[in-house]
Amino acid sequence: MPLKDYCFDGTRKLELRDMPTGAGEYRVRKGEYVDATNANMQRAAGLQEKLYASGEEGLIFALQARDAAGKDSLIKKVFGRLNPAGLKITGFETPGETDLAHDYLWRIMQAMPERGTIGVFNRSHYEDVLVVRVHQLQKQYRLAKRCLTDDFFERRYVQLNNWESYLWENGYRMVKIFLHVSREEQKQRFMDRMELKEKHWKLSVADMKERALWEAYDEAFETCINATATKVAPWYVLPADNKWYTRYLMSEILVKTLEEMHPQFPPLDPEEAAKIPAAMQELEREA
Ligand code: ATP
Ligand code: MG
Repeated sequence: MPLKDYCFDGTRKLELRDMPTGAGEYRVRKGEYVDATNANMQRAAGLQEKLYASGEEGLIFALQARDAAGKDSLIKKVFGRLNPAGLKITGFETPGETDLAHDYLWRIMQAMPERGTIGVFNRSHYEDVLVVRVHQLQKQYRLAKRCLTDDFFERRYVQLNNWESYLWENGYRMVKIFLHVSREEQKQRFMDRMELKEKHWKLSVADMKERALWEAYDEAFETCINATATKVAPWYVLPADNKWYTRYLMSEILVKTLEEMHPQFPPLDPEEAAKIPAAMQELEREA
C-alpha cells in the first residue's frame, strides 16, 4: 500500500475498519523493509542536519495510539536514530492541577520545539478530544458553564485546526500519527507486560479498563481524525501490529516531510566570508 493510502489530509474520509493493522502480504519481504528503513533513516539524518542548521522551520510529530500500540518503541527505534541535539521528545500524561487550571493547549505550547528542531509528542493535544471525550472528563473540570456546550468536542476540533494553521503560518509543521493496533495484538502485548519481568514497569492494570472501551475509542479516533485531517497538518493511520513495518512507514513519512520542507544549509554571511582568506593564511602560518 503506497504511503499516500495511509495519509488523511481532509480529501477523503477515514473508515477505521478499512485500515490494516498489520503488514499483511508485505510480511514475506520483511528484510527488504528493514533495509529500506535503514536507508531512509540515513537520509532523514542528513535532512535533519540541514533543518537544524537553517533553523527556519520546526516539525512536530504527534503520536496517538491505544495502550501498548508501540509509541515508546517507535520513538526509540526511529527517532532515536536522529541527532538528539535536534530532537525534543515530550510525553503528555494525565494533566495535573496546574495544567487543569489553564486552557488545554497551555501545556502543549510549553513543549513546542524551537524552529530547526524536530519535536515528538508522545500523546498530545489530541488526548483532549480522545480520552476526555470517551470519559466525558470535561464535566469534572472546573470549566465555566458557558464552555460546556453540546458541541464541546466539535468546537475543540475547530480550535485544533485553527491552532495547527496558526503554527503552519508561523513556521511549524504538525504531522499526526495514529498507531492502529488490533485487539488481538494489544492482548498479546498486555500478556507480555504481565508475564515478563522486564516489562512489568510498563504494566498498568488501568489500561484494561480502556481496552474494554474499544468501540468508544474507535469512534473517538475516527471522528477526531476526520475532523482534524488537513493539508497543513495531515494524519497518518499506520498499522501497528508488526513493529518493523510501522518503523518503515514512519521512516518514509520522516523523509517525505523533511524533503517537502526542503531545508538548506544557510549561506555564509558575506562579512564572515571576507575574513576567510586572512584566517586561512593565519592557520597555514601556524605550521
Ligand atoms: P503505553 O502506551 O506504553 O501504555 P502510555 O502513553 O499509556 O504508555 P502512561 O504514562 O501509562 O503512558 O499513560 C499516560 C496516560 O495519560 C494515558 O492514560 C492518557 O490517556 C493520559 N492522558 C494524557 N493526556 C491526557 C489528557 N489531556 N487528559 C486526560 N488524560 C490524559
Ligand atoms: Mg498506558
